[in-house]
Amino acid sequence: NTSEVKILLLENINQTAIDAFKKQGYQVETYPKALVGEELIEKIRDVNVIGIRSKTKLTKQVLDEAKNLIAIGCFCIGTNQVDLKTAAKNGISVFNSPFSNSRSVAELVIGEVIGLARQLTDRSAEMHQGIWNKVSSNCFEIRGKVLGIVGYGHIGSQLSVLAESMGMTVYFYDVLQIMPLGTAKQVATLEELLSISDFVTLHVPELEETKNMIGEREIMGYMKKGSYLLNNARGLVVQLPALAKALKSGHLAGAAIDVYPKEPASNGNHFTDYPELLECKNLILTPHIGGSTEEAQSMIGIEVSSALTKFINQGTSINAVNFPEIDLRIINEEESNTVRVLYIHQNIPGVLKVGVPEINEVFANHNVDKQYSDSKGEIAYLMADITQVTEEQIADLYNRISSTRANIKTRLLY
Ligand code: NAD
Repeated sequence: NTSEVKILLLENINQTAIDAFKKQGYQVETYPKALVGEELIEKIRDVNVIGIRSKTKLTKQVLDEAKNLIAIGCFCIGTNQVDLKTAAKNGISVFNSPFSNSRSVAELVIGEVIGLARQLTDRSAEMHQGIWNKVSSNCFEIRGKVLGIVGYGHIGSQLSVLAESMGMTVYFYDVLQIMPLGTAKQVATLEELLSISDFVTLHVPELEETKNMIGEREIMGYMKKGSYLLNNARGLVVQLPALAKALKSGHLAGAAIDVYPKEPASNGNHFTDYPELLECKNLILTPHIGGSTEEAQSMIGIEVSSALTKFINQGTSINAVNFPEIDLRIINEEESNTVRVLYIHQNIPGVLKVGVPEINEVFANHNVDKQYSDSKGEIAYLMADITQVTEEQIADLYNRISSTRANIKTRLLY
């Protein structure tokens, strides 16, 4: 019964999410700020789902008290604020929103490419100091220039389409073989991409292989003289001292940096770690705002609330970050005698041996219409639709399944 589902939303979560939950008939309680300590524990004990952003810390201590919690929605990109392992062990699945701001980042890059080609931020800074400095030398149109995209994922591919519509020629490098959009072309190596591009823009995740991906060797050895470098991916991908050196020597004509190896935790006069950058010309510096738009915030609200709603109503765990990803067709509402079993259980070899025959024993006398299960680490998740069951059988099913030895959390939907 959806009206019994209790949702607690902290940290001023977007109205799109509140509306979506209310439409489902859930009980929704909202707070503008993060909760901490006893107050958080007191509140979380009572609810089935909690929505947070980056400031609410869901530690083992907090999660162990959250006896009724089935899911956590991180209405942001990162999930470091949640103890994902404990959540999984307690049968709580965690969802986030990694891709809702792709368009915002891609648009910012287009703005930066034009800004760099026209030295826009230098002219603007001069004007703010009262200096009229009308120049055209080394200012360019972007039409016909080569944009080299490193990492052709959600952002890189979106950017590819926008750049071509502005008349740029697009090449990309990716570790995967990817179908190019429009007339973009994939090249085989990073070095090849660097050597043919007027603008190089980075859209790879932070991984062991992408750390320090662009340093002195890549900039001085492969990038063209007079080219530009843009990093809106992750701070550790570019070696900033090498970048500063290349800008000062004039090898690079400009750069745009949105992300840094060390970023201040709050707004204020805290950007002090990279003095060498502040002296560089035609260098656009932004405080990690690539995805920071009103549209991205509402997309996050829609994306995370819809993942949570599917998990609550159907058991679907697709895109969960700490959980096996399971989906079955929507429960057949016409078939009123159908019950969907959601069985979250331990995936420890010894227990599994006992656990699986046990659950199959429970199912043995029933008509299992469809069934699917998967595991991730120590957690396994089984979803099964059983037809032609009576009310008494439903209660019996619940009791027998939730007393299997491997049981972590069992829900029945009917
Ligand atoms: P994505 O996962 O959709 O795409 C990443 C692509 O990089 C994939 O195609 C992958 O195959 C490729 N890749 C991985 N390793 C590679 C390597 N060694 N060499 C070449 N290609 C490689 O990710 P996305 O959503 O497009 O995001 C890309 C990056 O942008 C992420 O690091 C993300 O954190 C960052 N980001 C930054 C902001 C911001 O505010 N500046 C906002 C959103 C995302």
